[in-house]
Amino acid sequence: MTTTQTWCTETVSSAVTEQLAETIGLNLKGGEVIELVSDLGGGKTTFVRGLAKGFGSADRVASPTFTISKIYKDKQRELHHFDFYRLQTAGLISHELAEVVDDPACTVVVEWGEVVKDVLPTERLTIKISRTDEDSRSLDFSYPAKLSYLLEGLKK
Ligand code: ADP
Ligand code: MG
Repeated sequence: MTTTQTWCTETVSSAVTEQLAETIGLNLKGGEVIELVSDLGGGKTTFVRGLAKGFGSADRVASPTFTISKIYKDKQRELHHFDFYRLQTAGLISHELAEVVDDPACTVVVEWGEVVKDVLPTERLTIKISRTDEDSRSLDFSYPAKLSYLLEGLKK
């Protein structure tokens, strides 16, 4: 049995969300799965932008809606960004997802992951983002204890 830990915070701008995600990106070792849950415009892709920066990628992060997945590289490691928006069935892409989820050199971050929930490991960091105001978002984290290192440097 894994017990789920929780933490929540509020960000007051997209820059603050990016900074927070960058801190998590710096903590990545490889093998983690991060699921981002929100409505459209909640800030999932904004979060991935900061995550990729902290991870060490200089690549531009945009919404991969039309390509479904994008890979950001840093030396031997890879950050795989999936966006399943509007996908009714995951089909072949779920095999690609299953492969990278099992690869300890890869970190996986997923937007709109409902359609692949059977492929996502239960041991993942889930962040639910809700819009509290035009520029404010509340972020609810849930994660198993073994992933608590991802939040190092965040809690004050
Ligand atoms: P999603 O991927 O969830 O659809 P995006 O990251 O593409 O969302 O868009 C989020 C939008 O909300 C951006 O225009 C961003 O500038 C804006 N925004 C405003 N405040 C925040 C905040 N606190 N955190 C994240 N994004 C914010
Ligand atoms: Mg997005």
